[in-house]
Amino acid sequence: MSLKDGLIARVATHGPITVADYMAEALLHPVHGYYTTRNPLGAAGDFTTAPEISQMFGELVGLSLAQSWLDQGAPAPFTLAELGPGRGTLMADILRATARVPGFHAAARITLIEVSPALRNVQRRTLEGFDIAYVDGADHLPDVPLWLIANEFFDALPVRQFQRDGAGWRERCVGLSNDVLSFGLSPAGPQAMLAHRLEDTEDGQLVEICPSAAPIISAIGTRIEAHGGAALIIDYGDWRSLGETLQAVQNHASADPLAQPGQADLTAHVDFETLTQAATPAVFSRVTPQGVFLERLGITARAQALAAKLDGSALDAHIAAHRRLTHPDEMGNLFKVLGLFPTTAAPPPGLER
Ligand code: SAH
Repeated sequence: MSLKDGLIARVATHGPITVADYMAEALLHPVHGYYTTRNPLGAAGDFTTAPEISQMFGELVGLSLAQSWLDQGAPAPFTLAELGPGRGTLMADILRATARVPGFHAAARITLIEVSPALRNVQRRTLEGFDIAYVDGADHLPDVPLWLIANEFFDALPVRQFQRDGAGWRERCVGLSNDVLSFGLSPAGPQAMLAHRLEDTEDGQLVEICPSAAPIISAIGTRIEAHGGAALIIDYGDWRSLGETLQAVQNHASADPLAQPGQADLTAHVDFETLTQAATPAVFSRVTPQGVFLERLGITARAQALAAKLDGSALDAHIAAHRRLTHPDEMGNLFKVLGLFPTTAAPPPGLER
């Protein structure tokens, strides 16, 4: 039975499910899930990401992490972790850029968190020659200093959606209408976790929360404060999510999120306020636009150095990639960077308190 037919049967028997339950099934179902079954990245896939656009992204992220490690006294050993490494491109670029940082590779225990067996295979190939280990979740990271990167990871985690109704909320659910999966609203009721959103929302407005994000951030923040380290979390979103941001993407085009569960990527913008609330005891940087972060790390100089070796269509593609990563009309402003670091340390380069 297809995932869609399975979901229709489930809803017909047990009633509507939350948007988060729907996303979890569509993305992570052990047999039919979107991430479980495929490699969605790149021109032949459904979407592309900053490290797939240009090597400069991973290089600069790597240098920020390595400088932060040096600033904290170059502890050894330490965990060099990535959440949701995709094709492994970002980690490969980080490792290439940091190869000459004295002691960094020798001290790094490369540790990946990846739900997709298909992508684990791709990552092993991309990172051939490096010793890599997988752990099942952030709470399984070892108790040693931790430098961590997560690019477009938190946007893949399931969100619940709530529509304001007076002093209460109606949860948006996935049910059936004429035997077709469709969105509906649960009856209104209070939601303690949304008490702070009564101050900045109006009747009818929609907010999203991501229940699985806070425990992950908390596991990272605890380790960073106890042992040293830093985390760079890069994603699209902003401080306090408002309005529907759930979207489906298939073959680089927007799609109906309910039409083909398991066949399209589903994401939602990241609410950075919720992430910062879970960071304690570690502290967090200002939420910084990706373009600003990359400029501070010297992307223009790096782009010029690479451009000197290129001409023709390769040069055009390189210039377009630089613009795409940094320009406010492209990824430069839509994507934000949040840093976590210990109370006694400075934020990683590119970020400020
Ligand atoms: N960071 C990569 C890939 C982003 S796509 C890049 O920038 O190119 C999202 C990644 O997170 C994929 O590798 C996907 O398989 C992984 N992922 C999604 N949900 C996950 C979960 N719940 N646990 C672990 N990994 C997950």
